[in-house]
Amino acid sequence: MPPRPRLLDALRVKPGGRARLSNIDPGDTHGFNEARAREQAAKHLARLQTLQEMLFAERRHRILIVLQGIDTSGKDGVIKHLSKALHPLGTRVAAFGVPTEPELAHDYLWRIHAQVPGNGQIVIFNRSHYESVLVERVHELVPKKRWSRRYDHINDFERLLTDEGTTIVKCFLHIDRAAQLERLRSRYDDPTKRWKFNVGDLEERKLWDAYEAAFEDALSRCSTRDAPWYVIPANHKWFRNLAVGEIVTDTLAGLGLEYPARDDLPKNLVFS
Ligand code: AMP
Ligand code: MG
Repeated sequence: MPPRPRLLDALRVKPGGRARLSNIDPGDTHGFNEARAREQAAKHLARLQTLQEMLFAERRHRILIVLQGIDTSGKDGVIKHLSKALHPLGTRVAAFGVPTEPELAHDYLWRIHAQVPGNGQIVIFNRSHYESVLVERVHELVPKKRWSRRYDHINDFERLLTDEGTTIVKCFLHIDRAAQLERLRSRYDDPTKRWKFNVGDLEERKLWDAYEAAFEDALSRCSTRDAPWYVIPANHKWFRNLAVGEIVTDTLAGLGLEYPARDDLPKNLVFS
């Protein structure tokens, strides 16, 4: 049997191409069943753990993982999954909510740039600068004249980061309306999930089509060779976790990470 295509290649939005979400099935599992997906996902986590240790030891590369997706698409779930492999010493999560007063007093990339990873670090963005062409566009928080210029800013900003040694992986968690409805209902019904329930999410849900159009533009205009977008079919949590884990692991594996040789240490050191 020929090896299956890597999800890294299968799910990438081709730079310069047009992402059409209606053509991408959120329930797709790329031939995996749940048992095999979980088994494979565990293997990726084991590799990821070693790769991150090398990354941290080398302090040469910086990794930025951007998670976007509509409410309940599973951004927190993906973070929980990746955390099983990632050592807290070299990892940070930055969540971006409604901008504060001081944040609003600056350009929209100010709070973002302050959170990017340093050498040896992995930073996961739970929402990101993309909110400035998503929620701000959908709710007309800024006029079209302003948000429409932001795609170019974002590409320039991301190129600055990649030119200076940051590797960027951007995952859009793709669910459908029915899956969201079920998840919102279950958040409301289940006492262990109710703390996450937000009545406002039901209002946001009414803007589904506007969000979809905004996501498609962001995915299409800002998937670049060095900072690609991946569309993750996310109706099945087990496939979503497998896919993000595989993409992150394969991306790190492609960096040629190694444990530092430490040639600076004296040879033949005597231990007594
Ligand atoms: P959550 O991720 O559920 O904690 O919610 C964070 C909220 O912050 C979401 O409703 C986002 O739409 C909102 N948010 C994030 N970034 C922005 C932004 N730039 N402008 C306005 N709202 C934002
Ligand atoms: Mg929310």
